[in-house]
Amino acid sequence: MRMESTPELAAFRKKVRAFVAEHAPGRKLHTGVRAPDPGLMPAIRAWTAKLYEAGFLGIDWPEEYGGRPDAHPLEPSIVVEEITRAGTWPPIGAAALASAAVLQFGTEQQRARYLPRIRRCEDVWCQLFSEPGAGSDLAALQTRARREGEVFVVDGQKVWTTNGQHADMGYLLARTDPDAPRHKGITAFALDLRTPGVEVRPLREITGSTDFNEVFLDGVRIPAADVIGEIDGGWRVAMSSLGHERTAVAGHGVELVAALESLLELAGRTAIGGRPALGDSATRQAIGELATRVGVNTAMVGLAQSRMLHHTEAPADAPMGKIFFSEVNHDLAALGVRLQGTDGILTEGDPAVAAQGWWQDADLYSRAYTIAGGANEVLRNQIAERGLGLPREPR
Ligand SMILES: Cc1cc2nc3c(=O)[nH]c(=O)nc-3n(C[C@H](O)[C@H](O)[C@H](O)COP(=O)(O)OP(=O)(O)OC[C@H]3O[C@@H](n4cnc5c(N)ncnc54)[C@H](O)[C@@H]3O)c2cc1C
Repeated sequence: MRMESTPELAAFRKKVRAFVAEHAPGRKLHTGVRAPDPGLMPAIRAWTAKLYEAGFLGIDWPEEYGGRPDAHPLEPSIVVEEITRAGTWPPIGAAALASAAVLQFGTEQQRARYLPRIRRCEDVWCQLFSEPGAGSDLAALQTRARREGEVFVVDGQKVWTTNGQHADMGYLLARTDPDAPRHKGITAFALDLRTPGVEVRPLREITGSTDFNEVFLDGVRIPAADVIGEIDGGWRVAMSSLGHERTAVAGHGVELVAALESLLELAGRTAIGGRPALGDSATRQAIGELATRVGVNTAMVGLAQSRMLHHTEAPADAPMGKIFFSEVNHDLAALGVRLQGTDGILTEGDPAVAAQGWWQDADLYSRAYTIAGGANEVLRNQIAERGLGLPREPR
């Protein structure tokens, strides 16, 4: 294992940190991949456009679309880390995923149309993959796209669409050949969400916030020119663009370190049975154990980055990192609530709640991290099968 750090990367980090301090649109109130209040959207769009303009997003795009292909491969991770460290908004939506699909599989016209609009943040994208009966088993998706001349007519329902309520465009998967084997009859589309027949219905979650949506598609007409990649070749497009998402892990490392610092601060002001919580040996042990796991998580992030740089990634790296992060994150948030004793039942908005209810929200939201990007049970199967070569789960 080699942890990478060079004077150039340190200088880049300093530049990003100063940029974030000067331009970011303020602190984000909650942890996780969340949807902002509508009033914040103009500021988030302007911020995202500035990040592209400064060369801090779209770094690995071709130069003609504003990328810096000669940049160090760790620069995108440094940007994510600095945004997370500042506790501010990352770019919202699925632009990274959609641009990866358009760059690798799209036509020249699609690249020329969509990429500049992403850079200016005129289009926020959302990911229209999951359905009520197709999540972990994405190939079970039923949303149907029938060809009628130069358009596809789409009917179906998507769910868990993060930031769908703010999105202009959707990166959609729909079934174009119901008779083909499951993975072979799926096509990827760029869908303008203002098209008649698209209805976005926000979902209210256990946290009280509205980060997800249901998206209903009823006779939606998509021009054939908006197919991304080959007709019936959408599975390859989707899997390949999902594989480009390598920077989240860097943000997760920083998130845990920041949460541990907040936990220490909370414990320092908390009393258990009338005595300072930090004088309680069970509390100290719980914190010590979490600090150890946060340290291991940081080392795992370093290892993943090092392997990415040296092209020595192993199939189990990503699932192991994601499971480990999400479980430490859950236990940290749960301890943050437990330390508040009976006040742990207070929620955001109560004047007496610690840290404005951040811990309560983080505790409830921590379940989402055990599902997003692959449910932990499914990832454990992947570690067993792809990492250890154990027999595949029978279908
Ligand atoms: C924060 C967050 C953001 C998301 N954003 C989006 C988005 O923007 N767009 C989008 O399309 N989707 C999004 N999703 C949906 C996400 O991709 C799905 O939730 C995920 O794929 C799991 O699918 P599911 O919810 O249908 O659960 P299911 O697949 O039904 O799983 C239910 C339970 O069964 C278990 N399980 C399933 N299969 C197996 C198996 N083979 N072996 C063992 N256990 C199994 C799972 O681990 C889980 O505990 C998001 C989810 C979250 C949590």
